[in-house]
Amino acid sequence: MQDFDYIIVGAGSAGCVLADKLSASGKHQVLLLEAGPSDRRFWVRVPIGYGISYHDAQVNWKYQSEPDPGINGRKMYFPRGKVVGGSSSINALIYHRGQANDYDDWATAGNPGWDYNSVAKIYDSFELVSKVGAEDRVLPTCSGLSVTDATASYHPLTDKFADMCEQMQMPVSRSPVMEGHSAGPYFITTRHGTRCSSAVAFLHPATNRPNLTVLTNMTAQRIGFQGRRATNVDCLYHGRETTFNAGCEVLLAAGAINSPQLLQLSGVGPQGVIRDAGLEVVLDQPNVGSHMQDHLGVNYIYKANRPTLNDILGRWSGRIFAGIEYLLRRTGPLSLSVNQFGGLVKSSPDRAFPDTQLYLNPLSYQSFYKGKRALTKPDKFSGFIMSFNSCRPVSEGHVRIRSSDPTMAPAITPNYLSAQEDVDDVIRMARLILRMQQTPAIRETLCAPPITPLDNMTDDEIVDDFRQRCSTVFHPCCTARMGPDPRTSAVNSRLKVHGIEGLRVCDASVFPNITSANTNAPTLVVAHRAAEMILADA
Ligand SMILES: Cc1cc2nc3c(=O)[nH]c(=O)nc-3n(C[C@H](O)[C@H](O)[C@H](O)COP(=O)(O)OP(=O)(O)OC[C@H]3O[C@@H](n4cnc5c(N)ncnc54)[C@H](O)[C@@H]3O)c2cc1C
Repeated sequence: MQDFDYIIVGAGSAGCVLADKLSASGKHQVLLLEAGPSDRRFWVRVPIGYGISYHDAQVNWKYQSEPDPGINGRKMYFPRGKVVGGSSSINALIYHRGQANDYDDWATAGNPGWDYNSVAKIYDSFELVSKVGAEDRVLPTCSGLSVTDATASYHPLTDKFADMCEQMQMPVSRSPVMEGHSAGPYFITTRHGTRCSSAVAFLHPATNRPNLTVLTNMTAQRIGFQGRRATNVDCLYHGRETTFNAGCEVLLAAGAINSPQLLQLSGVGPQGVIRDAGLEVVLDQPNVGSHMQDHLGVNYIYKANRPTLNDILGRWSGRIFAGIEYLLRRTGPLSLSVNQFGGLVKSSPDRAFPDTQLYLNPLSYQSFYKGKRALTKPDKFSGFIMSFNSCRPVSEGHVRIRSSDPTMAPAITPNYLSAQEDVDDVIRMARLILRMQQTPAIRETLCAPPITPLDNMTDDEIVDDFRQRCSTVFHPCCTARMGPDPRTSAVNSRLKVHGIEGLRVCDASVFPNITSANTNAPTLVVAHRAAEMILADA
């Protein structure tokens, strides 16, 4: 049994920020618990390695959803990082804040201080923006998130994508954008050609502080309470149980699947679920694990009349050349994401806000090989992908424990496409892709008709095809959402669990609504703001 002021559960995107900020003054004893191993691994550090970490049980929880009627009864594979850096150590590196109204909606839902003007200042405080090859002021070990403009290294096909957007009269930029209405090259979170996870950005520079203890392979199993005050965390380390005491607060940063799981295992959640698992109820809180939102996307594949990344990453000779380039200079396709171009656009001009996120990748993959991420097996032909997801789907799912056993994966029920609005989005957005593929810029790059014949498909056929082929974009959130009313939310705007003392949730679980783009950036902002509030309340 050891005592700390703050115990942070989960060293992911959020947990690494909390560990840095709470230990910075030297005044507080901080413990960071991580179920996975250290992130000092080759394929975690090499950007393209996310194709490998995707199925690597050593660094990935590898969850499966329940069979979901909205996707023709399929189970969805749910990778989540189980390693220092969490999902930011295995993600696809795109950096995008979303749009202002995402956060303004958080504030309007009764959460003061979460509007875009307020969070933009926080973003500005931790982003280190530079161009690839011009990162002189970013030392390999400096604190802050490297957000890199890698446009100069992107595949020439991205110029065609920009031309296409111009021909569609969509807002488009030839340099990366990180917020609002525009397509363009994506910013990525790399530093000198290696992944800049939340661990690299925030935790590693802080690890030598004497008041910060980081324990890996340490799985939190339940939070202990005295009455309704969180006081300790029981953990499992290589089969041995151990307990840590929190003098001030327990801070959950285990992510949108595991934070609600841990709350339910600790007796905080829907009472029926807790009782069915044979556990004692500390607080009946139906919103813990509910309201899960996620982005759901689909790829449309095109055969190109010119070389694409398939011609490099799909051939041994190309891979060896790219590997040598990477090892010698930290440049080339291995130093990048395959998601090189995209952004937030309107599926039709009458939409009030951009409602569609695009991913236009100079690479294609469609065959499924068990246990291999499709992108590690590019198509044999020169191909590329145009893909979309709805920015703000409204279908809600949930996460529920199945038993009192902390090692048993929770049941993840996404309820994809359960709202008609989301089905309507699919049709409108697929029709947008159809118009995109009909532009001169795209037509002149094709050597064969598009593989999915969108131009000959009815609305029903488009939806059927989507249900059959769509995939999570890996952005589950809102499973312990914030709000002023305990009847509709799990935590308040200071991220304290309603009705419980000494316990906050500080990760993607607390989003009141999903943001329009990728969720790493907003999770980092949640953690920074959480740290400010925790220190203010100390
Ligand atoms: C394959 C993939 C691709 C993605 N691509 C992108 C992208 O390109 N851009 C983007 O912005 N976002 C992307 N995301 C999403 C983004 O990375 C996540 O939204 C974000 O990292 C979530 O941060 P978090 O802190 O909430 O959770 P996580 O980063 O997942 O951290 C949770 C941590 O808690 C640990 N943990 C869980 N349970 C316990 C326990 N009981 N005890 C101790 N530790 C525990 C986990 O092991 C993990 O390290 C992607 C995600 C995935 C999985």
